[in-house]
Amino acid sequence: MQSSNTCANNYSFADRAYASISQRMLPAELALMQDDIAAVRRLKQERNAIILAHNYQTPEIYYGVADIVGDSLVLAREAMNVDASVIVVAGVHFMAETAKLLNPDKTVLIPDSRAGCSLAESITATDVRNLRRRHPGLPIIAYVNTSAAVKAEVEYCCTSANAKRVVEFAAHEAGTDTVIMLPDRYLAANTARTTSINIIAWDGACEVHQRFAAADIAHVRAQYENVTVLAHPECPEDVVEVADFSGSTAAMADFIRKHRPTRVALITECSMSDNVAAEVPETEFVKPCNLCPHMKRITLGNIRLSLETMGKEVIIEPVIASRARISVERMLAIP
Ligand code: SF4
Repeated sequence: MQSSNTCANNYSFADRAYASISQRMLPAELALMQDDIAAVRRLKQERNAIILAHNYQTPEIYYGVADIVGDSLVLAREAMNVDASVIVVAGVHFMAETAKLLNPDKTVLIPDSRAGCSLAESITATDVRNLRRRHPGLPIIAYVNTSAAVKAEVEYCCTSANAKRVVEFAAHEAGTDTVIMLPDRYLAANTARTTSINIIAWDGACEVHQRFAAADIAHVRAQYENVTVLAHPECPEDVVEVADFSGSTAAMADFIRKHRPTRVALITECSMSDNVAAEVPETEFVKPCNLCPHMKRITLGNIRLSLETMGKEVIIEPVIASRARISVERMLAIP
């Protein structure tokens, strides 16, 4: 397994994490999981395939079968260096599209093509063209959580890990103090707090993160002494304001690895806590739990089926793909 912090094929750690997951399962569930994991590992070799898994995937996928794990930025970057004929994306559809954009000659599979995202679905290419007409001359930055058709209409892509850097770079290159950032109004607002650049936002939101409220944090702090609160920037501004740290999923995991807090509350999708907890056993994870129904459409069983049947292949129209690729490559080229 490979992530921003771990080495490829670090199976001794993966096996330890796997052992800890196994202890929490019923014998029948464990047998099924072991059978699926063994089949997926075998199929990966037969198909010359690798699996990219987002930090929100469940531990049996994250530790059991993934080759590269991380946030959207890590997955996009690593997808460019993949030495395999087939990429299976254990994530949502826009992530699979991004992997395909950066690997046009490889077969990219998503185990369930219904794995969408409320952010990606909040805006269309026509909406972006209308925005550009309303604000001529301003650079447009699309969060990676958008369709390829939307990415094809913008100058830059960004992730929650590099949003500030991309905003400032885009403004500087265009000689302006204002940019358009879409589709997440909360990521735009939280980025605007960290920079002098004005940001015009779209009105989209992540259905998982927008449910967190500042009152939840107050409740966690009242219940658990000395808890360190880390919040994802897709959360509302008042949540980020009262957190001890805000960053992408990779930045939050790095924070925990570095500071080893006694007790932590991760204000993000629930599975992330399970994955980091397996790596940092001395930290207690308090879990205000919101699950992403789209991420949870990906299971060990449908990853296995995907490799058996080579479905569902991600196809992007060549004209859209070549334009969308430019915005992702521009982001990756920013120092
Ligand atoms: S957690 Fe939110 S942003 Fe991430 S895939 Fe789910 S709906 Fe989309």
